[in-house]
Amino acid sequence: MSLYAKTIRELNDKLKQKEISAVEIVEAALRRIDAVETRIGAFRTVTSDSALAQAKAVDAKIGRGEPISPLAGIPGAIKDNICTFGVPTTCGSKILAQFVPPYNATVMDRLAAKDAVIIGKTNMDEFAMGSSTENSAFGTTRNPWHTAYVPGGSSGGSAAAVAAGEAIWALGSDTGGSIRQPAAYCGVVGLKPTYGRVSRYGLVAYASSLDQIGPITRDVTDCALVLNAIAGYDPQDSTSVKADAPDFTAALAAGVKGLKVGIPREYFSPGLSDNVRAAAQDAIKRLTAQGAEIIEVSMPHTEYALSAYYLIATAEASSNLARYDGVGYGHRGSGNDIIAMYKKTRTEGFGEEVRRRIMLGTYALSSGYYDAYYLKALKVRTLVKRDFDRAFEQVDVLLTPTTPTQAFRVGEKVNDPLAMYLEDVLTVPINLAGIPAISVPCGLADGMPVGVQFIGKPLDEATILRAAYALEQSGEWQNRIAPAGEV
Ligand code: GLN
Repeated sequence: MSLYAKTIRELNDKLKQKEISAVEIVEAALRRIDAVETRIGAFRTVTSDSALAQAKAVDAKIGRGEPISPLAGIPGAIKDNICTFGVPTTCGSKILAQFVPPYNATVMDRLAAKDAVIIGKTNMDEFAMGSSTENSAFGTTRNPWHTAYVPGGSSGGSAAAVAAGEAIWALGSDTGGSIRQPAAYCGVVGLKPTYGRVSRYGLVAYASSLDQIGPITRDVTDCALVLNAIAGYDPQDSTSVKADAPDFTAALAAGVKGLKVGIPREYFSPGLSDNVRAAAQDAIKRLTAQGAEIIEVSMPHTEYALSAYYLIATAEASSNLARYDGVGYGHRGSGNDIIAMYKKTRTEGFGEEVRRRIMLGTYALSSGYYDAYYLKALKVRTLVKRDFDRAFEQVDVLLTPTTPTQAFRVGEKVNDPLAMYLEDVLTVPINLAGIPAISVPCGLADGMPVGVQFIGKPLDEATILRAAYALEQSGEWQNRIAPAGEV
């Protein structure tokens, strides 16, 4: 098996045994990028030179007999809304096309401390607004399982890069499903941590009360390894949780015997595709066979979560995106006075979906509508959260499909924003509640991946990882590399 097709854990073993070098791993990934990237379009920037330099430094460490961390020398890809010192961070937007951050996001410093190699920055829906990566100002990323299909979004570039073998692991961000949904569409693992578990310092804000950075990997063990590197309190982020992060690999193999797995009735609505429903039912069967206790639960406010999300997220976006005015940084349009300049800058710089959301959010926050829309949405958010609290009085984790359908065709929903928003119906309640969730592959149906989602109690990533690991080990799906358009 080629080096690019291996997991973090396998590569780390080989490095420690001195069977291979970190430079060889990075070269294998770069060759894979050369071979498939024209068909996939996962990357905005490939940082070959610095990746090779980082790999050389790791090889030198190994040569000196120093111990190495699990991520040392292993190439990963970073979503283009996470600030990387000296490397462009465009957010998929024309307005930030020339932006080169003068600082690192906290997660980048933490990865550097572990000697992880960064191989590039990945394509995304503009400002993380979307579910297909078709909203990028720089072209659409393709699903490596079938290039006529979308990879999901907004972290579509990160999920596609990992699925196609262009990176061994990646970081995405998840405001309403943007890690889990593309992970499900691309047949990889994606985890959204508890709000506050991973620092948001240096993550370009979309909706600050919902955004979280998290790992996208080929298997559950790798997911735990990346989470280990990035989780933990950060004084630079005022919403960071002051809680120690455990070693997330410690309890992975403890099994699910006696684990209480809740199945929320409302997540199995008639809108699910047959393949998705069958995959979730298969997952339930496999967990039962391993001794998990399946308990049906009800979460009555689920149906209101999507509307509340699209009010709260757009309201926060309208405020967060006010900073792109052509003055401090980013694209600047021309105009005879300052108002004309603002207008030109923002009209030229933002794409259609971002403009739509700024307008929706500004409307929802405006006086006279604030109580009717924004405030009401916040109340719904509390009710959604309460549904989860109640469910977790009875069960340890919840199991649902990740998405109502599998990946759709490029172009299929691009002119129908509502149809696109509906893709998020099973993922946004988790962001509203601030709790952790993981999407794990559950095989292929009609040649395309399907994912299921485990949802956990606040700060209990360990238990959803354990459940996901048990499911992964019970199936044949482990570390599959997508053909990426090759025949
Ligand atoms: N698809 C959702 C949206 O467009 C979620 C995006 C995200 O999680 N960043 O808002």
